[in-house]
Amino acid sequence: MNQKVKEQPKRKEVDTAVSPSFVKPLFLGEIHEDLVLPYPRPEYLERQRINELIEAAWRFTDEHYDPRQAEAYGWVGDDIIAGLGERGLLGLYISPKYGGQGLSQTGYGLVFEEIGCIDPTLSVVLGVHQSIGMKGIHMFGSEAQKDRFLPDLAAGRKLAAFALTEPNAGSDAYHIQSRAIPQRDGSYRLFGEKRYIGNGSKDVLTVFARTDEGAHVALIVEKGMEGLEVGRSYPTMGLKANDLRHLKFNDVRVPPENVLGEEGDGFKIAVEVLNNGRLSLGAGSIGSVKKLLRLAVNHTLEREQFGRPLAEFGLVEDKIGWTASYLYGLQSMAYLNTGLVDAGMPDYSLESAIVKVAGTEFLWYAANRMFQLAGGEAYITDQPYEKILRDIRVFPIFEGANDVLRVFIALSGLKPLANELSDLQEVDFSQPIRSLGVLADYVENRIRREIQPDRLNEVHADLKPLADPVTDQVKRLRHVSEKLLRQHGEDVQEEQRQLKRLAHAVIDIYAQVATISRVSDVLERDLIATPAEERYIAETFCARAARRVQRCLDQIEDNDDERMHRIARAAYVRRGYEHSI
Ligand SMILES: Cc1cc2nc3c(=O)[nH]c(=O)nc-3n(C[C@H](O)[C@H](O)[C@H](O)COP(=O)(O)OP(=O)(O)OC[C@H]3O[C@@H](n4cnc5c(N)ncnc54)[C@H](O)[C@@H]3O)c2cc1C
Repeated sequence: MNQKVKEQPKRKEVDTAVSPSFVKPLFLGEIHEDLVLPYPRPEYLERQRINELIEAAWRFTDEHYDPRQAEAYGWVGDDIIAGLGERGLLGLYISPKYGGQGLSQTGYGLVFEEIGCIDPTLSVVLGVHQSIGMKGIHMFGSEAQKDRFLPDLAAGRKLAAFALTEPNAGSDAYHIQSRAIPQRDGSYRLFGEKRYIGNGSKDVLTVFARTDEGAHVALIVEKGMEGLEVGRSYPTMGLKANDLRHLKFNDVRVPPENVLGEEGDGFKIAVEVLNNGRLSLGAGSIGSVKKLLRLAVNHTLEREQFGRPLAEFGLVEDKIGWTASYLYGLQSMAYLNTGLVDAGMPDYSLESAIVKVAGTEFLWYAANRMFQLAGGEAYITDQPYEKILRDIRVFPIFEGANDVLRVFIALSGLKPLANELSDLQEVDFSQPIRSLGVLADYVENRIRREIQPDRLNEVHADLKPLADPVTDQVKRLRHVSEKLLRQHGEDVQEEQRQLKRLAHAVIDIYAQVATISRVSDVLERDLIATPAEERYIAETFCARAARRVQRCLDQIEDNDDERMHRIARAAYVRRGYEHSI
């Protein structure tokens, strides 16, 4: 690192009275730059601890963990869990009071990025345990529950699971059918079925169910409880060393001390845990892309065809350049998010959905491109590419299917805008959105309204040419959103193709803001030896992202949606495709 690094400016506390979210106000045409500048980075001491944990993870897995063997065995291995636990890697964000490492959200993400680089399966097993499995106890548990469960979980002596999905309730998790019957002594009798539960045969499961009156509850079910039936392990395409189970609850008595939160809190707990968990799925995706990029760069440098290394061909470079530049944008966005969460931004549901969608989809496309560059070799199972491809395919499906999250992103942004427009205040999005997540109401939460600048004023002067176009995009986002709302009113919820475009536009606006904020910080503080290279990548990413925003917003006004609708309906009528020459 450069010797003359300037001191890290102290970050202001997030003023949640003005805005509890950064992305939602974009739909109103507001840019709350005080939230995103300066770019958040971990403090020096935490950075040191993060580096030690990363080093420990690499050293231990290099020596003891073989992803292919784990795949053949069908489980990453109890010895691996124990070894990683001893090194602090199973309780990364848990307070030292319970034996954890006490990392911030950013610290957790940075370590998780490396786990994603080591092996996607390992990142899923550790992610199910930490990002969602024990998160409910960490966020909503009583002191007694934390004392009882967290020390063993943080040390890796026990593993945690998150049991929400059911045969008839996947994306529509609000309508789960598992029943929790309250008893006089405060306990519950639990009946029902869950499917696709990671770490499902392990020790501490947060299980979601409803009472007969429809109230959602979150219950901590422990391995060995009478009536808990752990079904077969699913045969899966990838993630074969993940313990994916079907569970049955045949009148399981869950004692009062294992009830998480209050009756009625269950869905909120599930959604908030998932919001938080999605942050690390973004970070894990960064790690996996870094690994794939390294593999492809090495391969294309070494492999020669037509008398030259593959690395010298334009279409090879194109894939490498695309991957490196998008990676920079995604990384900027992922760690701006975690920094905002660390600074206390209360409503990050939209931001975390954005990183989940952008990260997992980018990983998929990048993996395909890097696979292509390895040629036939990539298809052979002693090479790492095909395993990564199989492992990651489910990322855009679980923890909220990406299309569902796209709808959520757009509707979450449209709702405050509708509330602000006097003639549209009655528009009610509550029904469909309730199944997508708990919608924090931005405008009602806001205690005072201030005139917000509609531009990024505080960025480094050299970056104005990147920052100014963002202003125009935000203004246009508001204009187009308002037009859609006026045109469709409440029925805008059914305009999913348009909602997808709005979601993609706001994802790319946010990505530009994050990238500009990061590079601004680099320039202000002479943070690295090669600021010119970072700036060049950032300029390229922002220029491309700006074009994508324009394309999405253009298509809202000019598209062939009606044609797609008709062709799809015809395919449904024909039950497929029947045209022949
Ligand atoms: C490997 C693996 C690990 C998992 N781990 C866990 C776990 O640990 N805990 C847990 O609780 N669950 C887990 N799951 C379940 C996972 O979260 C669900 O599979 C996911 O939520 C999608 O639900 P579904 O499979 O029922 O798909 P469905 O809900 O049937 O959706 C299928 C597809 O339909 C489309 N779709 C659905 N609704 C809409 C809509 N409103 N608008 C537009 N399109 C829509 C989407 O394209 C979606 O991908 C896991 C699944 C897998 C495969």
